[in-house]
Amino acid sequence: MRERWMTFKAIDAYLQGANFWVWETDADLRVAFLSQNFESLTGLDRTDYLGQTIWDLDKLGAKDSETDMRARMLEAHEPYDSYRWQFLRPNGDTIWLESAGTPIFDDHGEFGGYRGNTREVADEIQQALDMRESARQNRIQHKLLAQIGSISGIGAWTLAPDKSTVEWSDETYDIYEIPRGTEITLERGLSSYCDGARETISQTIADVLRNGGRFDVTLPFKTEKGRRRWVRSMGFIDGAGTPEERVYGTFQDVTEERERQMRVETIAMRDSLTNVNNRHSFNFELDDRLSAAKSNRERVILCFADLDRFKQINDVYGHAVGDEILCHVADYFAACVEPDGFVGRIGGDEFALIFTVADDDCEPVAFVNERVPRFVHTFETSVGPVEARLCMGVASAEGGEDDTVKIMRDADFAMHAAKSGGGGFARAFDTRLADTLHRRVKLVQEFQRGLRDHSVVPFYQPIVSLETGEISGLEALARWHHPARGLIAPHMYMEIFDDNRICLELGELMLNAICQDMKRWSNSGTEFGRVGYNATAVEVKRPGFALNVLATLSKHGLRPDQLVVEVTETTMFADIDMAAHNQLSELREAGVSIALDDFGTGYSSLTHLKDLPFNILKIDKTFVKDVMSSEADKSIIKSLIELGRDLGYITVAEGVEVQAERDFLRDAGCERGQGFFFDRPMSFRDASERLDRVIEVLAQTA
Ligand code: C2E
Ligand code: CA
Ligand code: CA
Repeated sequence: MRERWMTFKAIDAYLQGANFWVWETDADLRVAFLSQNFESLTGLDRTDYLGQTIWDLDKLGAKDSETDMRARMLEAHEPYDSYRWQFLRPNGDTIWLESAGTPIFDDHGEFGGYRGNTREVADEIQQALDMRESARQNRIQHKLLAQIGSISGIGAWTLAPDKSTVEWSDETYDIYEIPRGTEITLERGLSSYCDGARETISQTIADVLRNGGRFDVTLPFKTEKGRRRWVRSMGFIDGAGTPEERVYGTFQDVTEERERQMRVETIAMRDSLTNVNNRHSFNFELDDRLSAAKSNRERVILCFADLDRFKQINDVYGHAVGDEILCHVADYFAACVEPDGFVGRIGGDEFALIFTVADDDCEPVAFVNERVPRFVHTFETSVGPVEARLCMGVASAEGGEDDTVKIMRDADFAMHAAKSGGGGFARAFDTRLADTLHRRVKLVQEFQRGLRDHSVVPFYQPIVSLETGEISGLEALARWHHPARGLIAPHMYMEIFDDNRICLELGELMLNAICQDMKRWSNSGTEFGRVGYNATAVEVKRPGFALNVLATLSKHGLRPDQLVVEVTETTMFADIDMAAHNQLSELREAGVSIALDDFGTGYSSLTHLKDLPFNILKIDKTFVKDVMSSEADKSIIKSLIELGRDLGYITVAEGVEVQAERDFLRDAGCERGQGFFFDRPMSFRDASERLDRVIEVLAQTA
């Protein structure tokens, strides 16, 4: 016994500082020895436990399946290890202990008890407990997810660490229309995606496996039964880089939502009349193409196309026919841009075409002419064939920061240049155009200054009777005392009439100045007949135009029949709407004369003439210019004169420069003439002198 005690002492010394203690029982499993460090490790007194059976000690711990298992080992005298049990410390803490025990047999095989060791495994136990808890939470979550899944139809899937086996929830099977529980591989899962989409989803999963993160894709899909659907798959990787790495995801049939969204998008992106893209989608497309061009070293070609005299088509044939033409044009462009170009309707009769070309030295206009070979079309409409002419401005860009604004401005500018060149073709933007634009802007600014400081004044050109040479009236023509160029006539600066604000300001200035001059003539007893005032379309279109003219006349004590309002034929038919028509009728009814200026140069249908409130026709000077050399012009002039007479209008021939012209016109029955042969346009003072001379001559002959 002493010897054994000595041994125990040695063991105690040996185990000092160790994180476990050792113990021994007798054959009845009573604790016979506990090493000294039991006390330091547990805070308990070892003598309290010596003599107690293992079963007594078990009462201190929680009983669970492991305790039963160890009890069976003990009864069978078998070794055991990793037996974990709970132990209550005197301070109230519960600690976890792990014991291993080995049975002791004597030389005769007689069982003599157990010998073993025990250590505290608090951290490990806590971890295991956490795991057990999280497994429990997972189970609950799974159950919840399954419930959510079955209510919402959202499926779940897991890609196993082997990167091939997948696990699906019931809903996923249902969406695939594959019997629940069928064994599935990733490949089989992906094979249901449509062409193109399959590559996308494979790539997406490969990316997540390589780079981690999460994904969310909506793609076209075909179920096992062949139904086309849209599915949304979301996923993330867990345990990335470990042998346990898995991809988890959800899976949802979003066909209805997607279709609804596409319908909305279609409505938002399509032009409802022509069914090509609308302005909105044009903006997106241009931006996209320009940024793609930047990274792919490509060039974007933008064409703005416009219908020549579309307003006229609308006015002559009605809006329904106008709409038909727009649809024809849209169809034509849609065919032209196939398969890689884009067409959108971006305004009333404005279309935009976009192409992307490899950035070599492709000449944009040549390219466009190849893709859009025809600019003059005869479209079949409900009222028969109608001709439509397109004109197009072309610009190109390589893609960059502010290119959207620039390319649009360039194309727009080129289109206006094409339009003023008569339409029917495509024109490219070039820097000369930019210079022209620049000059025009400068001119407009200068002219505006001229209007404000009264350096724009009316000059007067007499209109005479071809028979007697008597002055029947005057036409007022604007003259500008340009600071550098001297006195200049509008044909030197016709561009300014493209600016609506200028037209209105000029109109206002001229009307007032003319009325003032007429009043001065009236006051001095100078006979001037009727004075012609040139009105632009913008003015005539303005509500209150007639009222303003009549008010200005009356303010100056003038009669309406002393004024002629001249409007050009092109203005009348291309731009004037019903309201403008009414304005002119109002003036005509009040006694103001309305002259159709530049007659013969426009496109008006002659039958419309009689419906309009004119009483004067002014035959354009281009016919007069060649009348002596051209038989054709002779007969045109004759028929214009005849037409005027039939309608009861007074006819005035413009641009009469030589006597032969005067004679011919007079003999053809034209009543009046205007031109250098009689007088040049002259200042108020010169005109006053000229008028007074007439009065003197008349007085002398009387
Ligand atoms: P328009 O109304 O046809 O005016 C007649 C133009 O013919 C004038 O040019 C006149 O100077 C020119 N002319 C007159 N006799 C002859 C001739 O024998 N031979 C030739 N070759 N030309 C002749 P102007 O003054 O340069 O005006 C050009 C156009 O500018 C006018 O054409 C008219 O449309 C417009 N305009 C002129 N003044 C005004 C104005 O005050 N307001 C508006 N809105 N337009 C004006
Ligand atoms: Ca005129
Ligand atoms: Ca004229």
